[in-house]
Amino acid sequence: MGDAVKQLNEVRSTIAAAEREARRPAGSVTLVAVSKTFDADAIRPVIEAGQRVFGENRVQEAQGKWPSLKTDFPDIELHLIGPLQSNKAKEAVALFDVIETVDREKIAAELAKEIAKQGKGLRLYVQVNTGSEPQKAGIEPMEAVAFVKRCRELHGLAIEGLMCIPPADENPGPHFALLSKLAAEAGVGRLSMGMSGDYEIAVAFGATSVRVGSAIFGCR
Ligand SMILES: *Cc1c(COP(=O)(O)O)cnc(C)c1O
Repeated sequence: MGDAVKQLNEVRSTIAAAEREARRPAGSVTLVAVSKTFDADAIRPVIEAGQRVFGENRVQEAQGKWPSLKTDFPDIELHLIGPLQSNKAKEAVALFDVIETVDREKIAAELAKEIAKQGKGLRLYVQVNTGSEPQKAGIEPMEAVAFVKRCRELHGLAIEGLMCIPPADENPGPHFALLSKLAAEAGVGRLSMGMSGDYEIAVAFGATSVRVGSAIFGCR
């Protein structure tokens, strides 16, 4: 068994244990395997081991490897977890099944246009910059609830959840708690939070999906 497959199985067991610990139903947390920087040959064994949900942070990089993998495995679900430029909206809507990084009016409008044009049932999350970090993407926490409302009412987008990346040097718990509170206020049910270093904590705070890269594929 390859390293990535072994590590995939370890991450799965850790998620299962965290679900039990938090008294949450088995299988209530979706594992998004983050395959950025790894090529199709590195990803294929992980798909063959049964993993179907993957995350990529760059549209162009994903276009290079996923169309052929999706042809071979049509039930793959691909998530965009990196910032989206509006000039890439067309390509992103065509390739991805879930976009987790809706964070400004212009992107919301562009996505609405492309979704209508391509007639695609895309699933969407709003990214929240819970730490208000100037260099980080995401809508400010104070504006998040109103933004979700505008996405729905102005742009007709079905936002199903919120996503965050807590500041690297902080205890993630308060950020996960904030995201959960904002989701409740905005009336969305899903929370994408937790990465290799903190996904067990995220499960305890109610994550419905965790985005795990290096703990599966190794260092980038
Ligand atoms: C790279 C990345 C991850 C995965 O990070 P790891 O620490 O390797 O698990 C999760 N979310 C986003 C948005 C990322 O860009």
